Amino acid sequence: MNNWITKTADELAQALAAGEVTSVELVQAHLDRIAAVDGNADAGLHAFLHVDAEGALAQAKASDERRAAGTPASYLDGVPIAVKDVLATQGVPTTCASKMLEGWIPPYDATVVAKIKAAGLPIIGKTNMDEFAMGSSTEHSAYGPTRNPWDQTRIPGGSGGGSAVAVAAYEAPLALGTDTGGSIRQPAAVTGSVGVKPTYGGISRYGLVAMANSLDQVGPVSRTVLDSALLHELVGGHDPLDSTSLTDEPTGFVEAAREGAKGDLTGLKVGVITELQGDGYQPGVMARFTESLELLKAAGAEIVEVSCPNFTHALAAYYLIMPCEVSSNLAKFDAMRYGLRVTPAGDPSAEDVMRASRAAGFGDEVKRRIIIGTYALSSGYYDAYYGQAQKVRTLIQADFAAAFEQADVLVSPTAPTTAFKLGEKLDDPVAMYLNDLATIPANLAGVPGISLPNGLADEDGLPSGFQIQAPAHSDARLYKVGAALEALLEKGWGAPLLSQAPEIEEVRA
Ligand code: GLN
Repeated sequence: MNNWITKTADELAQALAAGEVTSVELVQAHLDRIAAVDGNADAGLHAFLHVDAEGALAQAKASDERRAAGTPASYLDGVPIAVKDVLATQGVPTTCASKMLEGWIPPYDATVVAKIKAAGLPIIGKTNMDEFAMGSSTEHSAYGPTRNPWDQTRIPGGSGGGSAVAVAAYEAPLALGTDTGGSIRQPAAVTGSVGVKPTYGGISRYGLVAMANSLDQVGPVSRTVLDSALLHELVGGHDPLDSTSLTDEPTGFVEAAREGAKGDLTGLKVGVITELQGDGYQPGVMARFTESLELLKAAGAEIVEVSCPNFTHALAAYYLIMPCEVSSNLAKFDAMRYGLRVTPAGDPSAEDVMRASRAAGFGDEVKRRIIIGTYALSSGYYDAYYGQAQKVRTLIQADFAAAFEQADVLVSPTAPTTAFKLGEKLDDPVAMYLNDLATIPANLAGVPGISLPNGLADEDGLPSGFQIQAPAHSDARLYKVGAALEALLEKGWGAPLLSQAPEIEEVRA
C-alpha cells in the first residue's frame, strides 16, 4: 500500500496526474493522520485550531471532477494544504489564536487563499500560532501550544509552529505561514521542515491580519525545497489589493530548484555572516552549519566571510519598529466592529466596553507589545526610539547591500538553538526574543530567506536549520542553493513521530 501522507507535494501532483490516487483519498489520508496525532490543547501535537473536513472533502471532490474532465486547475490541483490562522478564509473561522477573534468568520478570502482555492488545493484546516503572530514558540496561542513532533515536551518554534508541525508530522504536505521576524523560518528550523520568507512584496498581504505591515510576508512551508518553490509560484505575484505587492512575475523558482538539485554550485559565492555565528549558538547547531558549508564547497561554491556589523543592533531595532506597528494595527480591535465584546455591569460607556474587551481579549505578550509601541510612538519619545530604530534599519539595509557586493547568497544558522522545552522561556521575554537573532535582519531589509533542515544537533538529536538569504527580487537563488544543499546532505536525519507511526519508518526504509 502506498503511504500517501509521506509523499512530497510534487510526488502527489504526479500521482494525481497519473490517476494513481484521487484528491478525496489524499484529503482523507491526511484527515486520518490529523485524527491520530493532532489531539488537542492538552495532549497531542495540536498543530490545528480548526480542521475543515467537510470543506476540504468537498474541494477534493471538485478537484477529482476536474481531473476526470481533463481540466485540472493547476499542477497542484487536488494536493491538500494547511493555512496559518492569521489568513482570512471565507466561511471558515479565523482567530489569529486570540480570544479577541474567537468566533469570527471572515466574509472574504485573503488573496493567497483565493489563489490556492482557484488552483484547486483543498484547505484542510487552520493552523495554530502565537497570538497575532507574536512569539517564537506558539506558547502565546490563546488556545494552548503546539508540540514539537520530535519531542512533545518541546516547542515547535513560532509564531507559525502549527504550520511547521503540520508538514513535519505528515498532517499536510504543504502549508502557508507568515514571517515578520522569523515566524516561517525559525519553526521550520526547529521542526526539520523547509520555510521561505519571500522578498518583501513578493506575495500579497491582502487578507493577512497585520502584525507589522512593513515586515510581514506570507510564505510557503513544506518538507522539500522544490515543494516550497511550487507553492511560491502559485501564490506569488502582483495583487492590486495590496499596494506594497511587487510587479515581479513569480516564475523561475521551480526551475531553479530543479537545477539546484543537480548539486553543481560552480562559480557561486557564499558569504558566511560573521555576526550570525559563534557565541550564543549551540555547538551542535554550529557543527551542522560548518558541515553544510563543506558540502557547498565540495559542490563548487566559494565560501567567503562577510561582516554585517549593524546586525548586532537588529533585534533592538526590530523590537521597537514592530511594537510600534503592532500598537497601531491592533487599535482596531475595539469591540465595536467585530470580535470579542465584554460589557461591564452598570451603565458602561463605549470606552468602558473597549477597555474591558481589550483586557479580556488580548494575552500578555500582545499587551506587552501594545504598551511598548504606544510608549515609543508617544510625543517626546518618537525621535528617541522609533526614529533611532528606523535609522538602524537603514544601516542594516546598507550592510546587506555591501555584503551582496561580495557574495551571491548569505548564510547562517537559522536559529541559535534547537527546540527548547515548553515553558522554558515563557517568563523571560528577552530570552524568547533572542531566538530571532538570525532571521530578523531579512525582515528589516526586505530580502528573501529560506530555512532548510541540515541535520540533527549532537547534544540532543533535534533538527537544526540552515538559512540562505539572497538580494531582494532574487528569490530563485534561495531555491537553487537550497535544493543543492538538500540534495547534498545525507538523507539520514530521520522522521518525526516514528514511534507513533511505524508505517512511516517502513516507507522511508
Ligand atoms: N518571533 C518574532 C516575534 O515574536 C517573529 C514573529 C513573526 O515573524 N510573526 O515578533
